[in-house]
Amino acid sequence: MRKAIVVAVVVVVGVAAWLLLRGAFAEATEREGEPLGEKVIKTDAEWRRQLSAEEYRVTRKRGTERAFTGRYWDSKEDGTYQCTCCGQPLFDSAAKFDSGTGWPSYWEPVREGAVTLKADRDLFGVRTEVRCSRCDAHLGHVFDDGPKPTGKRYCMNSAALRLVPREGK
Ligand SMILES: [Zn+2]
Repeated sequence: MRKAIVVAVVVVVGVAAWLLLRGAFAEATEREGEPLGEKVIKTDAEWRRQLSAEEYRVTRKRGTERAFTGRYWDSKEDGTYQCTCCGQPLFDSAAKFDSGTGWPSYWEPVREGAVTLKADRDLFGVRTEVRCSRCDAHLGHVFDDGPKPTGKRYCMNSAALRLVPREGK
């Protein structure tokens, strides 16, 4: 009986160590973006005043909105998606596609420098976090299972974005 307990403990500790090590050494793309204009830096209180509770939770506390609940997951409107915090253009509706995930998804940002990529490690491995390069708002994550031509899937939170319809249409 005691032997069985020892074996069980060894297995549990082994699996936990493997998960942690895998997360620590997994490859992640990291890249500092190049903002349009000056960086926007505000205090927590200023962000809280400016944003709705959900926008604040997602962008400043790295939250995730529930799938199929955001304002843009199903939007097909023509325009530019700006950062809801600082207004920097981030994505174009021309690069938006229906990923079936319930979050607005794009295969590329408007400019490579519009976003900053950070490694986001947890017990389940590593993901690549996407932030606005101007104000460091958390936007979502990017994955390698997107469509052509880039193969990327920028999986974003609607709450981090603000759609500005294209002018002259
Ligand atoms: Zn921003």
